[in-house]
Amino acid sequence: MLYTHNFNKVIAMRRIGLLLVFIVVVVLVLWQLKIVQLPLPSFSFNFNREAAKAEQAKADLFNLIAQDDTAGLMNQISAGADVNATNATGQTALMYAVSTVKDPALVTALLKAGANVNAQTPEGWTSLMYATRDSENLTLPYLLLNAGADPSIKNTEGQSAADVAGIPVRASPLFRNLEIWSTQAINHDWPLGYIVPVEGATISSRASHLPGSLRAYRNGTHEGFDFYGGVVSVGIAYGTPIVAVAAGTIIRADHDYVELTEEGYNQIIAAAKNSQITPPEILDKLRGRQVWIEHAGGFISRYAHLSAIPGDIVVGVQVAQGQKIGETGNSGTLEASQGTQDGPHPHVEIWKGNETYLGKGLEPDQIWDLAAQVFGEKAVPPKANREY
Ligand SMILES: [Zn+2]
Repeated sequence: MLYTHNFNKVIAMRRIGLLLVFIVVVVLVLWQLKIVQLPLPSFSFNFNREAAKAEQAKADLFNLIAQDDTAGLMNQISAGADVNATNATGQTALMYAVSTVKDPALVTALLKAGANVNAQTPEGWTSLMYATRDSENLTLPYLLLNAGADPSIKNTEGQSAADVAGIPVRASPLFRNLEIWSTQAINHDWPLGYIVPVEGATISSRASHLPGSLRAYRNGTHEGFDFYGGVVSVGIAYGTPIVAVAAGTIIRADHDYVELTEEGYNQIIAAAKNSQITPPEILDKLRGRQVWIEHAGGFISRYAHLSAIPGDIVVGVQVAQGQKIGETGNSGTLEASQGTQDGPHPHVEIWKGNETYLGKGLEPDQIWDLAAQVFGEKAVPPKANREY
């Protein structure tokens, strides 16, 4: 009797136990399917999964670079992979791309995705050091300089990008610049290694041709560099070729530009005078026919008052540094609206995104100094010629 009683009790306990296990399993399944919520330690669970996922994404990032897969790399980054993650040797993805695959498209894509151009390994190496040491040509060193790489950074052995440079860089005119820059304080807001957009020209020696000078006739400020014959070391005429300051992608090319009428010109100037500052849409009209180029590091160059644009300069096209992108003109000026070719001059602006332009808020001497960093020493007008 006693035995049977206990026996039944054991069976009942087992049934209850099985039922409980069943209920727990069902609840856990519902929890996993996110149908029910439980106050369980889901945090540490997910944390480990996230960490494993991040580790995998990082491995994929370096694998995609090794395979020179630019499209895959961009997908991985837009899916959340950290573009500044480092591998076991402390290299960032950018350093790895520069020192192994050396594909400019891959490097451009990484820079565009926000890779830190001045990151350093634990030994102090930068992407620029790998580029000057390992590159067979000057494309990557220029790409990195144009994106704001700092040649004055030293590694833990005290070496600069010039010190570690290999033969192709040492044998080039860039090497002397790298040596000069290695001893200077570099302005990290602006690039290096650009060229002046008119062959052989300097920046204007006249302060009123620089960014930041006032334009009272339209209640505004000048945002670019004007290149007029007589003050830039070379002659400037209607039709003088204008070249890209750095390699990049065309993001605007006004092939269908229609010149303002004199009446139209006078109307927008009157409207500007009635405003506190020149409204952006009016300023855009006053720049006339334009080409805009997007460069590494998020910089944009704008070329204004053009008379003509080569047929192959269209939106989306890649251009090389020094490639002709337009011809000097006077479009958008009073003279053009009057049907003349008077007053031709390239007007060139360098922008950091849409935020600020090169020279904004600086005095003329500071702009000429900064021009030495951006366009090189030869771009700076002689001190004796400067007009304030
Ligand atoms: Zn101008």
